[in-house]
Amino acid sequence: MQYPHDFHRVRGALYCERVPVARIASEVGTPVYIYSHKTLVEHLAKLQQAFRALAPLICFSVKANGNLAILKLLVKHGAGLDIVSGGELYKALQAGCPSSKIVFASVGKRPEEIRESLRVGIFCFNVESEPELESIHAIARAMGKVARVALRVNPDVEAHTHRHITTGIRGTKFGIDPKTALAIFRRHSALSGVRIIGIHLHIGSQITEASPFVQAIKRGANVIRAGRRMGAPIDWINLGGGLGIIYKDEAPQTPKQFAAAVLPLLQSLHARLILEPGRFIVGNAGILVTEVLYVKKAHGTRFAVVDAGMNDLIRPALYGAYHEVIPVGVPRPSRNGHGRYDVVGPICESADVFARDRQLGAVGSGELLAILGAGAYGSTMASNYNGRLRPVEVLVRGARWAVIRRRETRQDLIRYDVIPKAILS
Ligand SMILES: *Cc1c(COP(=O)(O)O)cnc(C)c1O
Repeated sequence: MQYPHDFHRVRGALYCERVPVARIASEVGTPVYIYSHKTLVEHLAKLQQAFRALAPLICFSVKANGNLAILKLLVKHGAGLDIVSGGELYKALQAGCPSSKIVFASVGKRPEEIRESLRVGIFCFNVESEPELESIHAIARAMGKVARVALRVNPDVEAHTHRHITTGIRGTKFGIDPKTALAIFRRHSALSGVRIIGIHLHIGSQITEASPFVQAIKRGANVIRAGRRMGAPIDWINLGGGLGIIYKDEAPQTPKQFAAAVLPLLQSLHARLILEPGRFIVGNAGILVTEVLYVKKAHGTRFAVVDAGMNDLIRPALYGAYHEVIPVGVPRPSRNGHGRYDVVGPICESADVFARDRQLGAVGSGELLAILGAGAYGSTMASNYNGRLRPVEVLVRGARWAVIRRRETRQDLIRYDVIPKAILS
């Protein structure tokens, strides 16, 4: 991974900023997620700088990484938060995010979630259907409020990414088609509980080029112009998230290049900008460190069996995602050139594979491996499958480090189970 981050080797051993990764692992155990404070802040700053001309509201996507310490540090550096549930609203407020910097997207917002959001006064709902708009209107009316909303328009553009993370094309469940958006604008003044202040375009994730965004903005611009002609006060355009990062050999646009491609379009619309980056900020700011339990060979394939599993990091199993895997210690050449391994977890699923046929050099039981680019959609998607405790998380800043999420305990595994005496006696 060449894209700037703060995991690097010092005399051969892997460090996060100025802390040896092996030291953290020996103190808190494995598997452990380790994040770099510097990388997180720098990625946010790069976006802020690239789009400075528009003074955008940059709302970090909580679903990419919802750790409270990470949310807090991004909020402290000026980020707002993009939420997709009442649970994330709670986290955003706990992290100290001003409600005026919270935007709420989700195809299925429940009435209670809408009520709560109105109560605390979030900045905007990204609305995904006409019935949802009517529901927000009715709830806001009953509360004597007016809800700011942006219509999430599905512009029907191909984002050239994995089919599970493309969201802006017809046939996906996301957003409102442009025709319906126009129909809504036509009757917007009858919906007194809502004020349509913008449109929202989130076309997918891990998008490495500007052209799908440009195409989406062009289609969005038509909707905005039509809406304005019908009197809707559309001041905002929300481009969503989706900026790609380097997992393997991608060459994603930099924030500067992205801004250069889209700024002129946005400026000609005289619209204020919201961005909802998740992966771009946290993706390569985090690694998952795991210990090799066993090395084995079966039918000619060498396996490194590690103590992390798909319950800790599901991206390879869910999306076929590529993650670089490297030794934490000083890499050693393998004797006789047999250094290629499948890196697999302990879970009873054939999909529990982190990497196939990777050159790791000599690895042995007890050694540590780092799975890179694990900061986004890693810990947030972790589960207790196979009775496993979700990993501990650590934040490094310079030469200091601290646990930001404790490892779960065995009691956590049964905390919410109930033995009903009436049935089991
Ligand atoms: C997931 C999501 C994001 C973040 O996407 P990234 O690809 O991680 O930047 C932003 N906005 C919405 C609406 C999302 O669902």
